[in-house]
Amino acid sequence: MKCWVNGEWMEAEGGRTTEIRNPATGEVVDTLPRCSAKDTQKAIDAAAAAFPAWSAMTAEERGRILLKAADIVKAKMKELAPWLTKEQGKPIRDAELEINHFLHGLEYYAGLVSKVRGDFVPLAGKNMYGLVMRRSLGVCGAIVPWNFPITLMGNKIGPGLAAGNTFVVKPASTTPLCSIKVIEAMHEAGIPKGVLNIVTGPGREVGEELIQNPQVIRIGFTGETGTGRHVGEVCGRLFKRVSLELGGSDPCIVCDDADLDKAAPMVAIGRFFNCGQACLAVKRLYVFESVYDAFLEKLIGRANRLKLGNGMTEGVQMGPLHTAAQLKEVEEQVEDARRRGGKVVAGGGRPEGPDFAKGYFYKPTVLTDVPADARVATEETFGPILPVWKVKDLEEALTKANNHVYGLGSSIWTRDMTKAAAAAERLEAGNVWVNSLHYGHDEMPFGGVKGSGIGREHGIEALLSYTEPKGVVYTML
Ligand code: NDP
Repeated sequence: MKCWVNGEWMEAEGGRTTEIRNPATGEVVDTLPRCSAKDTQKAIDAAAAAFPAWSAMTAEERGRILLKAADIVKAKMKELAPWLTKEQGKPIRDAELEINHFLHGLEYYAGLVSKVRGDFVPLAGKNMYGLVMRRSLGVCGAIVPWNFPITLMGNKIGPGLAAGNTFVVKPASTTPLCSIKVIEAMHEAGIPKGVLNIVTGPGREVGEELIQNPQVIRIGFTGETGTGRHVGEVCGRLFKRVSLELGGSDPCIVCDDADLDKAAPMVAIGRFFNCGQACLAVKRLYVFESVYDAFLEKLIGRANRLKLGNGMTEGVQMGPLHTAAQLKEVEEQVEDARRRGGKVVAGGGRPEGPDFAKGYFYKPTVLTDVPADARVATEETFGPILPVWKVKDLEEALTKANNHVYGLGSSIWTRDMTKAAAAAERLEAGNVWVNSLHYGHDEMPFGGVKGSGIGREHGIEALLSYTEPKGVVYTML
């Protein structure tokens, strides 16, 4: 496969390439250009050339093209989803779910953009009035991680393209294939050349060029907190607009009046979905002591019943971790918890058997009695590990939940809506779920506080963040 730049395929200068491997089998899925800063400049130039015409279209015209693009991608679902499973590792059913989520976002912004109005502002001066218009920004860079390559690309290009901007997408080095195929398919809808480009290559070269290049006016970044801090520093120095969606360690509180039969399966999905490699996921569980044993039993049952395997196999619910480095990190975090006195009550190692021999598989793992200074408590866990703590009441649960550097998501299970409202008010997180863990509503703003980043994706907030207000004061003569 090649990069897609200015409406055509592009190779890297010097013909440099890189291999993409399947994390379930170790097999090579495809070979791809390993682009440089110079190659990235070509894509930025194409996006800059395409900007005047794209931004001059009416919102309805752009919306219609994006709706058509969504229809085309939908029709190719069976062809596209296997690319995502083979490069990322997730079960094919989840790959389709992810592409569907991308499509929902595209359709949402295609419709929303024509409903955004400017403002008419009454002014103090006689015969004067103010008009606030919303302008497109220009060339934007979308820098995407490997855990949800399609959804997280969509979170940026959906609102950004609808708002009249052009893009250079930089996928993660290990998950570019499905993104390229999706972008190629979207062009069948008549997206003009240069409006949407994708360049593959290392973050240090392609990503760095996007954040440093003065022609790029806004960066939408999702990734690790350390990388995000660097991206934010560079963008701050250059006065670039930026959104940073970073790591998380979401707390989940299960109260004594919770519906345990509803909560247990959802908490298991909320932790083990995508093999636990999600920013939004239940990463610290606090259960009231009166229901602790009953809830733990249900949770362990769920964890032990999950079917692991190659994501292309029918019925598989959890695939492998994405890379050898991820597997090592998960093993070390569990080992650290064990060493400090934590108990493994489910999973706690790699599954055995020929089906798992060549992939980065790890069993869904539940830990108890973990001290507060263990790595699984203080760091982000990006794998199928769930530490559970007993708490005596809501006060203790909230204090422990908020005692963390991250503040992305959070959740509470209770039948008492007064208690839920109090918790929602006090949880230090960008998002709170009450009695559900339905992540990814395009209609709701999504993002973090504290170490989880700045800015919001989803909702009208994301669309507005890809525009600039321009105030004009008219004096009537
Ligand atoms: P990284 O930060 O390593 O990579 C993210 C992207 O940044 C990749 O495309 C990477 O390229 C690129 N990149 C790396 N270095 C630079 C640089 N110097 N300049 C510009 N771009 C660069 O994160 P991971 O891929 O490891 O993703 C996992 C992390 O993402 C987790 O911490 C997770 O919590 C977070 N995340 C946050 C979400 C949120 O919305 N808050 C959602 C999903 C994940 P390359 O692949 O080539 O290195």
